[in-house]
Amino acid sequence: MVGRLIQLNAHLRNLAEIDELTGLASRRKVLADAVNIFADAVMNNESCAFAILDLDHFKKINDTFGHEAGDLVLLQVAQQMQKTTRLVNKLGRYGGEEFIVIMPNTGKEMALQEMEDLRHALEMMQIETSQGIVIPITVSIGVSVISINTGRYEEILAEADKALYNAKREGRNRIKLYA
Ligand code: GH3
Ligand code: MG
Ligand code: MG
Repeated sequence: MVGRLIQLNAHLRNLAEIDELTGLASRRKVLADAVNIFADAVMNNESCAFAILDLDHFKKINDTFGHEAGDLVLLQVAQQMQKTTRLVNKLGRYGGEEFIVIMPNTGKEMALQEMEDLRHALEMMQIETSQGIVIPITVSIGVSVISINTGRYEEILAEADKALYNAKREGRNRIKLYA
């Protein structure tokens, strides 16, 4: 009986912490990670960086290739993110076609380089539907790094979101650092 309850409890935790489609951490889980990484950075006087990644014109991908193909894109993007980025990072599905990367003990230079490598790797992907059609994708990424003025993790997150907005506005398929 106790064993079953432990099993059920673990199952429920999985449901809340893992995004079903992509297998990445859920929004709730990755934001909990963000809180911890931010707190560690402040306590140890280290840097940390947050990035928000949003697929470009994803609505058009759904409209052109179908919702199922859109789901396939999300899954393969998530897998490529896991392959391309460092293991110390925390990855999560932030919303529909938005992902988040939390980079502990990472400064501006390293964060920008890593996100540029990721952007490039995603652009180079060959995502193929069951009908053998290759779906081209690009992403826009907003990056923000902790500063002496950052009081709460929500601030870096909001800054990364603003940088993402600028990346979209400037034409997409690019990275912007919040400045
Ligand atoms: P932008 O370049 O400005 O980001 O344009 P966009 O089309 O990517 O952005 P928009 O917010 O207009 O559309 C996002 C779309 O993502 C709309 C929604 O139907 C789709 N979407 C969200 N979640 C899922 C999902 O789980 N699966 C699929 N297939 N589509 C999803
Ligand atoms: Mg979006
Ligand atoms: Mg989008």
